[in-house]
Amino acid sequence: MRLILLGPPGAGKGTQAVRIAERHHIPHISTGDILRANVREGTELGTEAKGYMDAGDLVPDDLIIAMVGERITLPDAAEGFLFDGFPRTVPQAEALGQLLAERDEPLDAVLRLAVDEREIVTRITGRRTCSGCGRIFHVRYDPPTADNVCDDCNGPLVQRDDDTEDVVLNRLAVYRRSTEPLEDFYWQRGLLRDVEAAGSPDEVAEHAFAILDELSARS
Ligand code: AMP
Repeated sequence: MRLILLGPPGAGKGTQAVRIAERHHIPHISTGDILRANVREGTELGTEAKGYMDAGDLVPDDLIIAMVGERITLPDAAEGFLFDGFPRTVPQAEALGQLLAERDEPLDAVLRLAVDEREIVTRITGRRTCSGCGRIFHVRYDPPTADNVCDDCNGPLVQRDDDTEDVVLNRLAVYRRSTEPLEDFYWQRGLLRDVEAAGSPDEVAEHAFAILDELSARS
């Protein structure tokens, strides 16, 4: 399946993406994760992207589109993929449409995670990521067994540089301005599906799975 997860920062895209990708045996492609890896490795792309990321602003479209264009040609994406955090602007969505049309590989669905904005700041500022394996915890909703240590690999948990409150508020404003128009873009193309994202991660996943099962049954 070729899927996109859409939703504001803090809607749970990363958490759900891991579950959906595993269940459907498709790679989870997070443009944020790819960019953070580039920043860690000090590549040219990482150096260029870091300032935008730290401020909660979007990295320019041409850099993102080139990065994604390369990523989807890797063999693991031949049978499908799940994008998390991409596309984030109408030009990115248009470029993706063109890339997929050239490959004759249309999208199956865009899953929109709908969540109350007041909940978002609490969710994001409490988020902690394992620097070893990338597993995501939350200090209140999904705490690790031992403080700041990953349950899976014992790696140290860290807060992302852009998960502080002032940066989160900017990321939400950027979402409303640049990314929300994609909801209409994909609705008009008959691809948008709403996933209720207010429950526990398991409940949200069940809802997403039901939507995807229905889609698979139809095709
Ligand atoms: P994320 O992990 O998806 O929240 O992304 C973290 C940051 O990476 C964002 O705040 C942006 O600065 C940058 N980023 C990730 N994906 C994109 C994208 N598709 N377009 C532009 N910037 C992006």
